[in-house]
Amino acid sequence: MIDCRRPENVDELLETLDSGKFRIFAGGTDLMVRKRQWQGAERRFEEDIVFIEQIDELKGITEDKEHYHIKTCTTHSSMEKSLVLPECIRLPYRLMGNPAIRNVATVGGNIVNAAQVADSLPLLYAMDGKILLKSKNGSRILPMDEFIKGKYRTEIRGNEFLYEVIIPKLNIRGFRYKKVGSRKASILSKFSVVFLYGMDGVNLEYIRVAIGAVNETPVRNRDAEEKFVENRDVGEFLTAIRKDLHGSDDKRSTRLYREEASLRIVAEYLNELLRGDSYE
Ligand SMILES: Cc1cc2nc3c(=O)[nH]c(=O)nc-3n(C[C@H](O)[C@H](O)[C@H](O)COP(=O)(O)OP(=O)(O)OC[C@H]3O[C@@H](n4cnc5c(N)ncnc54)[C@H](O)[C@@H]3O)c2cc1C
Repeated sequence: MIDCRRPENVDELLETLDSGKFRIFAGGTDLMVRKRQWQGAERRFEEDIVFIEQIDELKGITEDKEHYHIKTCTTHSSMEKSLVLPECIRLPYRLMGNPAIRNVATVGGNIVNAAQVADSLPLLYAMDGKILLKSKNGSRILPMDEFIKGKYRTEIRGNEFLYEVIIPKLNIRGFRYKKVGSRKASILSKFSVVFLYGMDGVNLEYIRVAIGAVNETPVRNRDAEEKFVENRDVGEFLTAIRKDLHGSDDKRSTRLYREEASLRIVAEYLNELLRGDSYE
């Protein structure tokens, strides 16, 4: 028999996580798929479970002068409809799953599950997102790219849970987002591209480019971004990114398709920027 707990608040959750080995269950949209045995059969959970979706303290989006704070159990629906967040953050959540999934799937679940195809990760890499982890021993904040170690692998420790995501506010002049899959809704990304840029007066201040679902973890090259701001050399930027792409063939598509198509989209966005095309 497995033990199922339903703590009422964060203190009770911390006690529970410290008292044994528990699997956190948020929206359950990844877990219910991963625990499936065969079509129609009951899900098989071997470990004890702690449900967290009922904890009100773990929901909501707030902002201060420099950051957005997104609590772990905030759903994708709340993200896409948020009046606090800018469109560049809302859009990737709007394109995930389908309305029923988005109503229960959580921001934290997408991150901690750390799937290669997790659509929030490229956005959070591009925005320099951080996560706040809590345990009975205290709290720690990690940059997203230090937390994600690989496909389904993170830095999370036994008695820790993800409390909130912290996204720095950026002076964003324009953004582009492309998610490519076999159809529009309820589909795994073949790849995705997040592109952001900022201006300082008439000068390009920064660009951010993150490519998701090609490598095990999103690809972002800060050196190449800085170089591009100096020399505006699209070819040099693409050469640097190409070296970082190490995809493999799988049921979603071939490595070659993903790498070439994602680079083509990055090139399109950079050329649009250099031409001064308008961004929505
Ligand atoms: C039909 C369908 C379509 C989907 N479409 C997409 C899509 O387009 N893009 C996409 O990226 N994903 C998609 N998903 C995957 C899934 O919906 C998301 O990854 C979702 O965000 C997971 O959140 P959850 O709350 O359901 O996580 P859960 O399933 O509850 O948990 C996932 C993992 O995270 C851990 N976890 C959850 N919360 C915490 C926490 N606070 N602290 C520590 N560990 C935690 C759990 O223990 C588990 O290991 C889809 C899933 C389905 C079933």
